[in-house]
Amino acid sequence: MSMQIKRPKGTQDILPADSQKWKTVEDIVRSAAEQFGFREIRTPVFEETGLYVRSVGDTSDVVTKEMYTVSSKGDSTFTLRPEGTAGVVRAMLENGLMNEGFPQKVYYVISAFRHEKPQAGRLREFHQFGVEMFGAASPYADAEIILLASSILDACGLENVELHINSIGCPECRAKYREALRDYFEPHREELCETCRERLGKNPMRLLDCKSPICKEIALNAPIITDYLCDDCREHFEALKDILDDYGVKFKVDPKIVRGLDYYTRTVFEFISNDIGAQGTVCGGGRYDGLVSELGGQQVPALGFGMGLERLIMTMESCGCEFEAQKTCDLYIAPMGETARRKAALLADAVRREGYSAETDLVGRGLKPQMRYADKIGAKYVCVLGDNELETGEAKLKNMRTGEEKPVVLTEFIRTFADVLLSELFDGDFSEQLGSLLEDLPAADTSDV
Ligand code: ATP
Ligand code: MG
Repeated sequence: MSMQIKRPKGTQDILPADSQKWKTVEDIVRSAAEQFGFREIRTPVFEETGLYVRSVGDTSDVVTKEMYTVSSKGDSTFTLRPEGTAGVVRAMLENGLMNEGFPQKVYYVISAFRHEKPQAGRLREFHQFGVEMFGAASPYADAEIILLASSILDACGLENVELHINSIGCPECRAKYREALRDYFEPHREELCETCRERLGKNPMRLLDCKSPICKEIALNAPIITDYLCDDCREHFEALKDILDDYGVKFKVDPKIVRGLDYYTRTVFEFISNDIGAQGTVCGGGRYDGLVSELGGQQVPALGFGMGLERLIMTMESCGCEFEAQKTCDLYIAPMGETARRKAALLADAVRREGYSAETDLVGRGLKPQMRYADKIGAKYVCVLGDNELETGEAKLKNMRTGEEKPVVLTEFIRTFADVLLSELFDGDFSEQLGSLLEDLPAADTSDV
C-alpha cells in the first residue's frame, strides 16, 4: 500500500460529527448580521499581493511573515486572503458600491490563511465571520457594530467574554504617541525580543501587542495613547463609551489594545475569553477611516470586525454551550427482498419530495442490521416492507421513540405519514388542534386577490 497523504500542518478537517457546531454558529452570525441590516458579500479567496501590502501594511506581522503568496504564470503575484477587509474594500470600490448611498453594510463568512506557528486557537487556515460598514463616521456606528458582536456572543450563550476598547487616535495623535513610546522603550532595547527590537523603529505601537512575557512586563508602564488623543478623537471615544453605557454593554478601557493591522484609526476593540487559554481574542475590530482612500477611493469612514470561528466554537465548548441538534431522519424504510427494495426506493423518493427526510437500504442487508442502522441515524419512524406487506398493500409505521405502531395503506402512504408526523408535533389529535388553531388566526384579507 502506498503512503497516505496527511493534511497540511495548521489546517483542520471538520467532520460530520462536528459540522453541526459550525452550522449553529454560522446560523447565529448570519441571522444577527441580517437583523442589523448587513448583507452578505463574497469575494475571491486570493487577491493580488499588492492589495494586502497596501492595506494591511508592510510592517504588519501578516504582511512581513504570514502571507501565502504564489506567483502564477503571468507576472502578477497572488496571496491567499489573510483577512477579509481588504478584499471587501477592493470589491466595493471596483463594483461602484461606494457610490450607492451610505451606509453600506456587508458581512462575510470566510476562511483565511496565515503562515503562523500552529497551536490551540491559532491555525494556518482559519475561519472568520466579519462585518464592514462604510460611510458612517458617528460613534453610534462604532457602538452598533460592537453591539452586533456582543449580541452574537450572547446568542451563542457566552457569558465570560470581556469587551476591551481603546482609541488609537488619528494619524496626528498617533505620531506624538509613537515618539513617546520610542522614548520609553529605547532604554530597554536590549531586553526586548528580536521582533520588538525591529518594531521599535518601524511601528512601536506593536510592542504593546507582543505576547512575550518579558516585553509584556516592560510594556506595563508604557505611556498610554488616551493621554495623547486630540480633541476630536477624545470626543469620539467619550461618546462611544456613553452609548455603550446606554445599551448596557459592559466594557473595559484597555490602552494595550492596539490591533495587529495597520489600517485602524480611533476605535479599536477586542472581545476576550478567559476560557480558552492564551489565544483568547474571539473577536477584534475597529475603525479604519484611512483605508478606502488608501486603496484608491474617496475619503470614506469605515469600520468593522472579524470574529474567529474556531475560537468562538472552542469557547462555546469549554463553557458547555448548547449547539443545535443534528436533524435526524424522519423515516427509514426497511425492505426485505428485491421487489420490496424497488418499492421502498420509490416510496422514499415520494416521501422526500414532500419535504421529509427518508432513507432506505442501499447495501442489501437483512432486517436486523437495517434496524441497527435506523437506530444509528436516529430515524423517527421505521416501516418494514416485506412480501406480506406488498401482498396486502398495508404496512406499519413504527414510532421508534414510543414503540407504537400505526397501520398504513401503501397507496395512501404519504398522507398517512404526514398525518402521523403532524399529530406527534401537536402531541394528540391533529385535526382537533388544527381546528382551534385556525379559529385563533386573524382572517386573511383577500380583497385584492
Ligand atoms: P491575534 O492577536 O490572536 O494574532 P489578530 O490580531 O492577528 O489576532 P485579526 O487579524 O484581528 O487577528 O483577526 C480577527 C480574529 O480572527 C481574531 O480575533 C481571532 O479570533 C481570529 N484569528 C486570527 N488569526 C487566527 C489564526 N491564525 N487562527 C485562528 N484564528 C485566528
Ligand atoms: Mg495575528
